[in-house]
Amino acid sequence: AVQANFYQVRLDLTTAVEKSQWGETHPLLLCTRRTRLKKIGQKVMVGDQVLIEEIDLADGRGAIAQVLPRKTELQRPPVANAEQIVLVFALEEPSLDPWQLSRFLVKAESTSLEICLCLNKADLITPHQQQQWQERLQQWGYEPVLISVAKNTGLEQLLKRLKGKISILAGPSGVGKSSLINKLIPDVEQRVNQVSGKLQRGRHTTRHVELFQLPLGGLLADTPGFNQPDLDCDPTELAFYFPEAKKRLENAHCQFNDCLHRDEPNCLVRGDWERYEYYLKFLEEVIAFTETVKQLPDQE
Ligand code: GDP
Ligand code: ZN
Repeated sequence: AVQANFYQVRLDLTTAVEKSQWGETHPLLLCTRRTRLKKIGQKVMVGDQVLIEEIDLADGRGAIAQVLPRKTELQRPPVANAEQIVLVFALEEPSLDPWQLSRFLVKAESTSLEICLCLNKADLITPHQQQQWQERLQQWGYEPVLISVAKNTGLEQLLKRLKGKISILAGPSGVGKSSLINKLIPDVEQRVNQVSGKLQRGRHTTRHVELFQLPLGGLLADTPGFNQPDLDCDPTELAFYFPEAKKRLENAHCQFNDCLHRDEPNCLVRGDWERYEYYLKFLEEVIAFTETVKQLPDQE
């Protein structure tokens, strides 16, 4: 008898998979890909929604018969259907550097996923300072969630923002990403061991991506996205990665279609916003990058 069910792929899966349907946990199944999928070169990614046939619960086996169309597809980390990037920074230790934060934000914006900005270690600054950061980042176009993993504050609010979506963690090291994962997914080590046993290989022996089910629903990839973002976009797109500039271009445009918002006449973006200066510096970097790429010999 053939049973068919939709599952969500939650483990790394070139050869093996775990799945769970939205909201419910299912037994771990080790799956093969149907030959038909192999023939058409259809790969299975973590985050994919798949149709599983021939489920054998006693043996914990199944076969992936179909991969549903993906809403999004990231390469680093390789995750399908992610909708949001959770960008984690610390308010102190290390102290929040607006320039470094902007670099991560621009990179995150360039993926076109939603951004949830999460500022950790709120316990290390005063409520007044927290308020100041809150307001400053609102000016930039963000609604940051201030949390303290150490003091257990703000986590409920963060979980609400992660509900019902696949989210990817990003952020520099030392800001508390691992502490956050351990807090949100208390049995994380135990789960990882269970999975490693099933796959007969260690967690770190292979490129492993896993999505963890969050307490209020939603899935979080434990593999951090980017930690040293390079800015490699098209120079004319850069302004759209700054919400405060993007807003100015929503229902209007600069005189020149290819305006880089430097000293062109009738530019709507140039002006009195805090990060305009960052925009100009990033723009130089992006232009320099584009020129290096142009100078590279064709790889033929
Ligand atoms: P990661 O590199 O981003 O994974 O950061 P870790 O989770 O390893 O945390 C870096 C350091 O920050 C550790 O010493 C944590 O104990 C500390 N830390 C994490 N969260 C908090 C917090 O909310 N408040 C304070 N004061 N320290 C924290
Ligand atoms: Zn302009």
